[in-house]
Amino acid sequence: MECLITSTLFLFGLVFGSFFNVVGKRVPQGESIVYLPSHCKSCKNRLRPLDLIPVLSYVLCKGECRRCQAKVSPLYPVMEGICGLSFALVYLKHGWSAEMLMGLLFVSLLVIASVSDIAYRLIPDKVTLPALALFLILRLLIHPTQPYWMYLLAMAVGFGMFFLLTVLSRGGVGGGDIKLYAAVGLFLGLPLLALSIFLSALLGALFGVILMLFCGAGRKTQVPFGPFIAAGSLLAYLEGDAIIGWYLHMFF
Ligand SMILES: [Zn+2]
Repeated sequence: MECLITSTLFLFGLVFGSFFNVVGKRVPQGESIVYLPSHCKSCKNRLRPLDLIPVLSYVLCKGECRRCQAKVSPLYPVMEGICGLSFALVYLKHGWSAEMLMGLLFVSLLVIASVSDIAYRLIPDKVTLPALALFLILRLLIHPTQPYWMYLLAMAVGFGMFFLLTVLSRGGVGGGDIKLYAAVGLFLGLPLLALSIFLSALLGALFGVILMLFCGAGRKTQVPFGPFIAAGSLLAYLEGDAIIGWYLHMFF
């Protein structure tokens, strides 16, 4: 039974991931996510149901449009896969519960924010502000491990720290990052927020070093930070307790 629910959530995650790709690409452009059918960006050919199967369509068509052979970004199947896997992992962590539903919403926010940030270097308010409002209400009702005010405090810390960083770096950190961190704080609470910031910075720095060593990127190369916030937050959320436990065991 457990296995059946996990695989079902994985499949749901793939399908939702496909939808979040559309949301993340279209919302910053002000396009409708409902009324505009999916189409190839090059030849405007409307995609058929067979082209819309998450991950599989991409693999079967070798990453090309069926009609004009234009390259399709690998971002689509990668995000679908990550979303499917994350949905399954959230279920395995929390079982069938209110916190699981919150976890799925959290993953959704992270995926959409990453897609927008990779595509346009921005995380739209139309995504972060409704998520913040929703998490504020839901956290009031669902706060399994910490009192409500700890989540509020974490939201303020996430917002404050990155607001300060934005001022100090004179725009090096984007406004979308600040609001995303406020939502992450509100969702994770304080200890895991601290871990998520550490992990995001670590992953971002590692990626930067790899880019410089192997791709000849310079110091001025701009890399969107949103996907690293997402990866660090997801890691802190799913494995944070284990990571903190391991750290304490190693050094104390
Ligand atoms: Zn095409």
